[in-house]
Amino acid sequence: MTVETSIHCPTCGGSGCIGPSGNILDNLYTMYMACSDCQTDPKIQKDVPFWIIKQEGYDNTQCNNCGARHLDIVMADALAVMIKHGCRNNEARLFDVGTPLITIGCPLAFAPRLKTDNLILIADNIDRQVAGELVNIPEIKGVIKRIGTPAQSVGILDTDSEPHTYELLAGCDMRCDVVASGFGELCIYKSQSKIHIEFGRESPEKIQVLERLYMQGHLAGEIVIDGFCGPGTLGLMCVLAGAKHVILNDAWKTAIENTLLNIEANKDILGVELEKLVDTSTMPDIGDEPVHVAHAKGNGCVIDLFHGDFRKLLEVVDDFDTCLIDTYPSVNAAGFVKDDTGGRMVII
Ligand SMILES: [Zn+2]
Ligand SMILES: [Zn+2]
Repeated sequence: MTVETSIHCPTCGGSGCIGPSGNILDNLYTMYMACSDCQTDPKIQKDVPFWIIKQEGYDNTQCNNCGARHLDIVMADALAVMIKHGCRNNEARLFDVGTPLITIGCPLAFAPRLKTDNLILIADNIDRQVAGELVNIPEIKGVIKRIGTPAQSVGILDTDSEPHTYELLAGCDMRCDVVASGFGELCIYKSQSKIHIEFGRESPEKIQVLERLYMQGHLAGEIVIDGFCGPGTLGLMCVLAGAKHVILNDAWKTAIENTLLNIEANKDILGVELEKLVDTSTMPDIGDEPVHVAHAKGNGCVIDLFHGDFRKLLEVVDDFDTCLIDTYPSVNAAGFVKDDTGGRMVII
């Protein structure tokens, strides 16, 4: 679904990438469904060589009512392009194309029907020329080249580590995940070539930690720090949980830019107005001394966003009730826990 909005996409500059969250959430559960005229599931086997799929034939026309095509058909067309250019061989299977991410991510109990720009593809062993042709497939919005192994987290592990990012080869990498909790839903946008990919199974566990804290009487009315905020998911969810002040921090500039975007895109749900305090384009990729980037306030909640090293943030902001520490799995989060603070530190 393309939503016209006044928020311009930081990756491509277009106005169709970022929609007000309310519109998206209203349409979410029908967005990827087959209409009554859509073809039935093509049942393409994902683990057989493509030459067999071609021999058996598949219908890759769009539904003449809703214009959608099944995910497997789009992936089969992508594989045909890759084989034509020699970056996959004729024995390649649909599994070998790469990782498809729907542009508006949400848990689906069925294979999605895709329309224009509904898919971002992450692939190994691919170049700009192939990627340029792949984005000519109408459903494919962007193609990202995976660098390193799938297990390597995208972003920075610590302020002294080299950033690990994927490479956007063609199109735009902006997508969002709809994050649901007992407090409400948010659309969390990500520059996906530079932000860790969280698959659905990971984030509900983190949200459950917040829900448990809430049930124990925390978060509501509290000052909460989200120390490694990434695109802002947990901190912004704490706003919905009733926190009176949420302080978000990250050392990675892309995380700060995405968090700003997420405050803006979800401002109606969060009930806040955003005020930017610095020009983010002048910020270094990795922050050190905490810089106060933005301030937002509204319905009984204040949000402050900092770019910098978490350890230095705690030297500046020491009055808090709960501090969330959500590092990458390969980082020892316990190393960031301080015992001498007045607040409670929670490793997510
Ligand atoms: Zn874009
Ligand atoms: Zn249809």
